[in-house]
This record gives sequence, C-alpha cells and structure tokens, in this order.
Amino acid sequence: MSAAKATSGNLFADDPAFQVTAQTISVLPPLPLAGPYDYLVPEGISVAPGDFVEIPLGRQNQRGVVWGPAKGDVESSKLREIYGVLPTEPMADVTRRFVDWVSAYTMAPQGAVLRMAMSVPDALEAPKPIFRFTLNADFDAASLRMTPPRKRVLAFLADHPPMEQGDILRETGAGASVVKGLVEAGAVQRLMVTPPSPFDLPDLEIPRPDLSDEQTAAADALCAQVERGGFSCTLLDGITGSGKTEVYFEPIRAALAQGKQVVVLLPEIALSAQWLQRFRDRFGVNPALWHSEVGQARRRDTWRAVADGSAKLVVGARSALFLPYHDLGLIVVDEEHEHAFKQEDGVIYHARDMAVARAHLGNIPVVLASATPSLETLANVEAGRYQRVELGSRHGAAVLPSVEIIDIRSDKPERNRWITPTLKKRLVETFASGEQAMLFLNRRGYAPLTLCRACGHRFQCPNCTAWLVEHRAWGKLQCHHCGYQAKAPDTCPECGAEGKLAPCGPGVERLFEEAVETFPDIRVEVATSDNIMGPKAAAELVKRVHNHEVDLLIGTQILAKGYHFPMLTLVGVVDADLGLAGGDLRAAERSYQLLTQVAGRAGRGDRPGTVILQTADPANRVIKAIAAGDRNAFNEVELSQRMTHGMPPHGRLAALIISGKKENEVDEAAWRIGRAAPRGDGLMILGPAPAPLSLLRGRYRRRFLIRADKGVKMQALIHDWLSKVKTPGSVRVQVDIDPYSFM
Ligand code: ADP
Ligand code: ZN
Repeated sequence: MSAAKATSGNLFADDPAFQVTAQTISVLPPLPLAGPYDYLVPEGISVAPGDFVEIPLGRQNQRGVVWGPAKGDVESSKLREIYGVLPTEPMADVTRRFVDWVSAYTMAPQGAVLRMAMSVPDALEAPKPIFRFTLNADFDAASLRMTPPRKRVLAFLADHPPMEQGDILRETGAGASVVKGLVEAGAVQRLMVTPPSPFDLPDLEIPRPDLSDEQTAAADALCAQVERGGFSCTLLDGITGSGKTEVYFEPIRAALAQGKQVVVLLPEIALSAQWLQRFRDRFGVNPALWHSEVGQARRRDTWRAVADGSAKLVVGARSALFLPYHDLGLIVVDEEHEHAFKQEDGVIYHARDMAVARAHLGNIPVVLASATPSLETLANVEAGRYQRVELGSRHGAAVLPSVEIIDIRSDKPERNRWITPTLKKRLVETFASGEQAMLFLNRRGYAPLTLCRACGHRFQCPNCTAWLVEHRAWGKLQCHHCGYQAKAPDTCPECGAEGKLAPCGPGVERLFEEAVETFPDIRVEVATSDNIMGPKAAAELVKRVHNHEVDLLIGTQILAKGYHFPMLTLVGVVDADLGLAGGDLRAAERSYQLLTQVAGRAGRGDRPGTVILQTADPANRVIKAIAAGDRNAFNEVELSQRMTHGMPPHGRLAALIISGKKENEVDEAAWRIGRAAPRGDGLMILGPAPAPLSLLRGRYRRRFLIRADKGVKMQALIHDWLSKVKTPGSVRVQVDIDPYSFM
C-alpha cells in the first residue's frame, strides 16, 4: 500500500476498521461473479460511500456502487481510476448492508444481489430536463411584429404559470414555429425545470371505514408499532374475508404520516386490480407499482422516485424489496405463506424472510398478513420473536363457508368427466338461485398428458423430465417448465398409428368443455395465466364477474387469492388430492393453504357459501382439517411430524443443485462434491441423487439435501465444503438455503 496516498479527507475515518485513504476505494459492480474491486479516485473528484460511479472493468465500462474503503488486496500502483460519479442519489447505507446480508445468507455473490438493486441502468442517468415557457416581463411588446397566433400565445401565457410547449400549442392552436419565434424575439423565456415526480402524495385526510371492534384493536396494535418505531415483526393472522387489508391500511397511513415510505409485497401483483382499487379509495393515489410487467420507462421513473423519496407508496412483487428506498418506514408482506415469494433462479431467496431482515437492518416494523400463516412464521410467534394480532370473524354479515366432501370413488362422474353427480346438482341449484359458482382445478391446458392408445407412447419434453401438456385452444403441446412447444400431431410419431392419440386427465380447458356441455344455458369462463395476462385482463374479468356476465368461473390458482365476489356462493374443488401427490416436505401444508384460500372465495357477501371438495382420499388429514375448519389441529400434527424428523421450522434445510449440459460431467462433479461432504452431529446429507426434474431446460441435474439442527451454521458449513472441491466451469453448483422446491 502506497503511503503517499494517505492524505486527508479519509471517507471512512469514522470507521476504525479501515485505515485506507480517500484515494482508494472499493466499488461493487452489479455482476453475478464479483465482489467489490479496488479503484483509485482521481484528483478533483470526491466520492462518498453509496455513490454510483462509472468504472473501467476489463475492457468495458461498468457502473458500480462505492462499497467501502479499498480492500488493499491489489497494490495501488496497479489500480485503475474511476471515471466519475453519476448524478444519482447515493445508495443508502441500509440498502448496501442489506445487499451484503442477503449475499451472505443466500451465498450468492454480492454483485448478483446488487444487480437486483440496480435493475434499471437508465435510472442512473440524470433525468431529461423539461422546458417550460413564460412571458418575459422586461420585454417591450411594442417592438414585436404581431400576428394573430403570436397574440394568442402571449395572451395565454399572461394568464398561466410557465407552460410546456405541447400545452401551449394545444390550447392556442399555434404552431411550434410561433413559440420559437417569440423566444428568439425575446418576448418569451424558455425555462429548464427538473421533471416533477410522477407519483402524487397520498391523501391522508380520507377517513378510514368504520372498523369493527376486532379490526380496530388489530389496527391500533399495528399503528402502535409504527409510532413506537424500531424493529418489530407482527403476524396479522385473520381468516379469509376478515378485513386484513383494511386493517393494515392503518399502519400504512401512520408510516406515511411520518413522511416515510412504505412497501407492500404481494405474491401475484399483476392480478390484483381489485386490490389496487381499494388502495386508491383509501389513499387517493395510484401506488408506484413494481413487477415484471411494468414497462421500461416507468421502471426508470419509479426507481428514481423511490431513490429520491418522492414515491411514498410502493406495491410490488418480491423484487420491490431491493429498490433503493430513500427512507423506508414500513414493510407489509401480504399472503406471507405464499411460495411465489421464493425466487428460484439467480439469487435464490425468500422475499418474506428477506423482508424481515430488511426491516431489522432498517430498524422498522414489518407486518406479515395471512389467513394460513406458514409454519415457520407460526414457530417464530411461538418463540416470541414475532408478535401476533388476530382477526377471527368475517367482515359484516359474511360467515366462513361450509365445507362438504365428496368421495369420487362412490359418487362417480361419467367416464372422461370430472364433475360428480352431487357437484352437478349443487351447481344447478346455485345457478337457479341466480348465484355464481367457481370450479377450481390447478392444471392449465386441456390434458396433462397425451398418450398413444396403439403403442403406449407418451409425449415428453425433449429438454425436461416432464410430460407435454396439450393446449387444445392453440393446437399445441407445451412444456410448462421450459416453454417448449410442438404442434399437436394426428399420428403417433412412434408407431405411426392415426387417430389413436388420447388426452389423459383433465385440465381447465377440458373441464370447460364438460361444463359447457353439461350446462348449455349458463355463461362459463376460464381464467388461467394463459388467458388472463396482466392487470388489464384481470380487471376486465373482475368486472364481468361483478356485473354477473359470468355464471361459472373455471380456473387455476390465479383465482385462489384476493378476489372478492359477493354473489359467488359455491366453490367446487375438482381434484382436492392434486397438491398432495408431490410428497415433498411442504405438500400437505401447501395444499392446506391453497384449498383454504380457494374456499375463502365462497360466500364473501350476505349469502352464505359452500365449498365442495372432490377427493378419492376423504380420510386424508388435509381434507379432514379443511372440512373441520380446524387450522390449529392441522398445524399441530404437521409441526409434530416435522419435529420428529428435524425438519423446518425445527431444523434447517439447504440444497445443492449441480447442473450442466453434459451428463457425465455433472455426475462426476456431483460425485466429487459427495466425497467431500462434511460429517457431524446434527447433520444429515442426502445425495447426490438425480433431481426429480433430472433434465430441465436441457441441463442435467443432481441434488443434495442437507438437513441440520438449528445450531449448525449452515452457510459456513457449505462454504467450507464447496471450497474443497474443484468443479469444471461448465458445471453449475447452486446453493438453495431454505429450499421450497425439491424438484
Ligand atoms: P381479507 O384480506 O382478510 O380476506 P379483505 O380486507 O379483503 O379481507 O376484506 C374483505 C371484504 O370486506 C372487502 O371487500 C373489504 O372491503 C370489506 N371490509 C372489511 N372490513 C371492512 C370495514 N371495516 N368496512 C367496510 N368494508 C370492510
Ligand atoms: Zn421442457
């Protein structure tokens, strides 16, 4: 380290851990393979931690964030200089600590995590200025050659604050050359202004609805957390329809009243048009949305507005957690039990858990809302780490639906039909009384499998261990893992037999066909992610259902959550056993949660609802628990089973996924890793084993599952383990801490 560089102005002088100078710094580029690198700061440029800077990296220019003092691992004579500082709000200290924390927890490189916080490169440029025009007060109008359009423009500007050219032209009918001429003549001034934030401030004066006593108590408890300040994590535990949203609006209002920002994370943001409307009703503004379907220009404006603090209210998918908040005061995670919060590619993380960590680092409250909280969260409540507020009854006259079980082994549908005689009868009654019904089947497409009746050939994806799903509407067979598509053939590619290909099992399209044939006079609509794409389509569907243009709604899990249809009184779950088949750790829990959510769609208005579960296994404890409405009994059994096996939340899990395009290389690497596996008390390592999806998107996959007692430092253990093994660059080793997918 060159002593000559040790001059004044040490940025990190406050931090005794760093004895390096202001002239050398470390910069983290948003790249998946990198940690921070050291750089020199040229004379005349001053940088501060969190500044966005332009740097040379290899042969390219990159943008990165000043992460801290130089690490000193490279001699300063070999360091390159940063090019300059970008005109953006520096990244807040808490955001940088969050990036580091997530990186350490998930074992993903810091740069990969930073990339999520810098997902809009354009946002780092200075925003384009806008121009406004106003009268020049000092100008002597007598010297101006006057024309009718000039006159109109001058008269208009005399009556208005500085205006943009587009507005002037529209209001006066003058052409752009008129404005230009007036500026050149000196009669009008052109002012450069920074564009205003696209987000209006929430209206905090809108009165809240009359909350019930129970709701008031819950809202008060949550508001008290906000007012007290500091970290807290509270489970808002309320049955479906109890008004959780109305309740958590109150702490949101309290945080906004403190001038702070708030983020609400939703599992399927794009489909929550109805929810957004409630938001507008309560706060008078559109929240800033953040999810994959937000367009590029809007993303850029939103990113900036979050960074400069002008976007107060952000509603988004899990990635919204990584926005560079100026002053975040509250996080709400709605439907906290949802598996959609787990990101499975790139940085593998669970947004609910990261939200708690973010709140902790930022020293702010976080609210987790659910009707079916995850066992992890319940265990944290038990242990006193999280608090709980409860809502035990539905709002107004609505009551929880009654649940009936149909045993499809005795109450059989016809061949190649899935609606049992009893369900059919109940549907007929529902339609007769002018009410609406929903059939739930969590399978997209027409049939989950196509088979040749002549030779038994099954259509499989060439890139994945998965059957191709027939989508009859498009005449295609499709893989739901990689998107591979093929035209649905007439002849079997294996034996050449014609007209022998048969769909096996139902998908929603096939159920639609059955419904239309069975109830020719009613209006049926299908809703899956294939036809309800984006908030607009969802909003239109909601409107049709509300206007009662639909009698029967058939859909997948996209219908399970959030929707509120007062006239929907019957929900039929066509195959309640479907989610139980997977057999992974959380199959029962997940199935219980999903079926409870689906059931929660029924009877949300004045008319009571009924839920019918069609099952071949009526004795199954998930089915029985839902029928009995006994969540606690279900959770107790589930928790005690997990305890017996040391599974989460009683123990910890991690997975390693080894993948590559060449099967022998993958096997070889997996074998080496297996040989180096650590041993120890309270530790169990299974694998290597072919993953259930042993081929995915053209990559061969092997898995390890690591179970450890709570005290074991999982990340350190895996880090040591993997650092002992060399694997070729063509083989990828992914670490999944707290896995939710075992495929
Ligand atoms: P949850 O999220 O718990 O399922 P919601 O917040 O969606 O419940 O509330 C269910 C329905 O009841 C919504 O239409 C909501 O607007 C209405 N609601 C709940 N509480 C109130 C209240 N205090 N006043 C008026 N409407 C309410
Ligand atoms: Zn595939």
